[in-house]
Amino acid sequence: MSDCLFCKMVAGEIKPDVVYEDDAVMAFRDVNPQAPLHVLVIPRVHIATTNDLTAENVDIVGKLYLAAKQIAADEGVAEPGYRMVMNCNPGAGQSVYHIHLHLLGGRAMAWPPG
Ligand code: AMP
Repeated sequence: MSDCLFCKMVAGEIKPDVVYEDDAVMAFRDVNPQAPLHVLVIPRVHIATTNDLTAENVDIVGKLYLAAKQIAADEGVAEPGYRMVMNCNPGAGQSVYHIHLHLLGGRAMAWPPG
């Protein structure tokens, strides 16, 4: 998707602060962090929202979670705990239409979220 911000990162046209990458996923620090640790984990393939997940492409979601779990351990938040969340569509505050898993840690998290 030529007009997708995160596809441009995957293509190397925009260079985020990458903390992890493999053949399926890429993870980088959020430019507007909402916690001391705020990383976005994205698939290399373009999927606009979680509404677009299917039986054929859903395996990538597990890979996002495995990467996030590893990053949480590497960043030292695995034991105190962390939050992982995916927003879908405007009602949930999605602003970039390429699915991404937010990994937030390093502070206490309130519930319910805003
Ligand atoms: P969401 O609102 O769930 O779609 O999350 C999109 C996230 O992308 C927000 O937390 C933004 O701060 C983050 N973001 C937007 N542009 C960039 C960028 N160039 N580099 C890193 N994170 C970004």
